[in-house]
Amino acid sequence: MGPVSGTAEHSGLTDCHAHLCDGVFAADLAEVLARAREAGVDAVVAVGETLADAERNLELADAYPGVVQPAAGLYPTRLDLPEAQRVADLIRRERSRFAAIGEVGLDRWKVRDERDLALQREIFALFIDLSVELDLPLNVHSRSAGHHAIDLLRERGAKRVQLHAFDGRAARAGPAVEAGYFFSMPPSVVRSPQKQKLVRRLPLSCLLLETDSPVLGPERDRRNEPANAAVSLRAIAELKAIAEEEVGRAVRENTERLYG
Ligand SMILES: [Zn+2]
Repeated sequence: MGPVSGTAEHSGLTDCHAHLCDGVFAADLAEVLARAREAGVDAVVAVGETLADAERNLELADAYPGVVQPAAGLYPTRLDLPEAQRVADLIRRERSRFAAIGEVGLDRWKVRDERDLALQREIFALFIDLSVELDLPLNVHSRSAGHHAIDLLRERGAKRVQLHAFDGRAARAGPAVEAGYFFSMPPSVVRSPQKQKLVRRLPLSCLLLETDSPVLGPERDRRNEPANAAVSLRAIAELKAIAEEEVGRAVRENTERLYG
């Protein structure tokens, strides 16, 4: 798959998961967002890993209105219940400014201790309940924890859910598809047989674009950026053997259904 072309074949696309508040974008975010627009990506759901990220994302949304859609969460390896509660308080206070709750979820790759896992689950449950209470979409991380995350989401009645960079098998995704949850595909799909299989098996009606910038790019050791959401789109079209225009239309509709 070639690099993103300079002419916008697409428009109105959303990168549904990127870490714009990461320090690696501090110097050139305006150019990064201009390149995204050229590639047809004119909105970015800006997720956060900490309370400080959440505040930064609100500032970025003020600086780039309509482009940066701010989110707030607590990364699942950050096992800090008081901080989770402060993030939740901020979301409640600023409900109308936030587009989503995230990045939140479960990570059984880095966290292995039973007591830590119980706390991780408690924190995720707090954010799921907040999503239901405030009717805000959840932007979910589930590394090595796909079915654990899906089970907890369903148990607690989560309705608006995006599973980002899902690393489980397609068979594990079934209950999430049934529940109306969405799956966002990062550009690393071009080098991941697991994600390619997932794209082939999942219905187009549950797919979204994401980049997880600055990581999960088409090339492993290069800074990823939101323009590469167009790489995900092209990969989905190739893997499903359908026209790029059709994929573009579908992911725009899906994004509208979850975030609209
Ligand atoms: Zn992320």
